[in-house]
Amino acid sequence: MDKKTIILKTDDNSIQKAGEILRNGGLVAFPTETVYGLGGNALMADSVKKIYEAKGRPSDNPLIVHIADKSDIAPLVKDISKNAKKLIEAFMPGAFTIILKRSELIPDSVTAGMETVAVRFPENETAQRVIKASGVPVAAPSANLSGKPSPTRAIHVIDDLSGRVDAIIDGEDCTIGVESTIVDASKDVPVLLRPGGISYEEICDVVPETRLDEHILNSLALDEKPLCPGMKYKHYSPEADVTVVEGDMRAVRRKIRELLEENSDKICGVLTMSDNTYDCAVLLSGGTDNREYAKKLFSNLREFDRLGVEIVFAEFESRDGYGLAVKNRLYKAAGHKVIKTGP
Ligand code: AMP
Ligand code: MG
Repeated sequence: MDKKTIILKTDDNSIQKAGEILRNGGLVAFPTETVYGLGGNALMADSVKKIYEAKGRPSDNPLIVHIADKSDIAPLVKDISKNAKKLIEAFMPGAFTIILKRSELIPDSVTAGMETVAVRFPENETAQRVIKASGVPVAAPSANLSGKPSPTRAIHVIDDLSGRVDAIIDGEDCTIGVESTIVDASKDVPVLLRPGGISYEEICDVVPETRLDEHILNSLALDEKPLCPGMKYKHYSPEADVTVVEGDMRAVRRKIRELLEENSDKICGVLTMSDNTYDCAVLLSGGTDNREYAKKLFSNLREFDRLGVEIVFAEFESRDGYGLAVKNRLYKAAGHKVIKTGP
C-alpha cells in the first residue's frame, strides 16, 4: 500500500477536512481518550473493508461504531433494555462500549456477521468534533497495525499507518491509554467482555448483576469461539519477549534481579511500577498506580522496541479495580508468560 497520507492538526478547517474524508468513505486516524482510532464510514461496506486492509486485521474481528451523541444510538440498534439504558446514562460519553442487537443499517463487515453491534461515544473533544463533522457513525478499531501495541500518541500511528490511510490527526496523547471497557448488554444479564478504562466495580455499582466473562484472563485457543472475537488474537505484543513478574514488590524485585543475571548475555529492559532499581540496559517507569501504568503501558512497550531491547521484565501488582485492565493487556503482551512471586 502506498497512499498519500495527510497529517492534519485540530483546527476547525482540519476537522472539517477529516469529516469530509470520512463521509466520502476514506480513512482517518484520530485521538480518543482511550487509544487512537482508525475511522471509516460505518454505513459504507467499502470503507469498512479498507479499515481491515489498512490494519491487516482479520475480518472476523468486529469493529466498534463511534457516535457523538446519545441519540445516535437508537438507529443503529434494535432494542435498548433497562440495564442498557442505565449503563448508557452512567458511562457515555466515556471509555465504555456497549453491545446491543444491531439494526439493518449496519453492514455485515462492521460486525463480522454477528447479530450484535458495539457502540461507543468517546469523551475526547477532538474525537467528538471529527465524528460530528463526518455526519455519520464512524467504525474505528485501534489505529495500529494488527498485532502491534495500540497507539496512544500520534507518532505511534504515523509509524504504523503512514502510506496506508488518507489522513492522520496529529492530536493530543491519550489520557487513559488502554481500550474501552466492553459490556454486552444484548441479553438480560450484562457481561463484561473486555476490561478497560471503566472498572468492573464501577459497572457493578450501576448494574450489580453484571458478570465477568471467564475468558478475560485465560489465553484462548485459536479455534475457540469467544464472546468477544478480538480476545483470541495475540494483541499488544512488542517485538521484545515480555515476562510479567507479579506479586509482592520485594519478592518481585528479588526475582527480576535473578532473571537479569540469568539473561546477562541479552539486552534486557525492566518496566517498573515501584522505585526499584535494576542493573539492566533500559529501565522504564510505568508510574506507581495502575491508572498511570495503563496510560503509559503501550507507549513503554513501543519504546522498548525502539531501543532494541530483547527481553522485558514487567513488574506488576494489582493495586485497585483498575488493575484488571492493565493485567489483561500485560498478560497478552507477554503471551501469558507470568511468574507469580510469593511474599
Ligand atoms: P479494537 O477496536 O481494536 O479495540 O477492537 C474492538 C473489539 O471490540 C474487538 O476485540 C472486538 O472483538 C470487540 N467487538 C466489536 N463488536 C463486537 C460484538 N458485536 N460482539 C462482541 N465483541 C465485539
Ligand atoms: Mg485493537
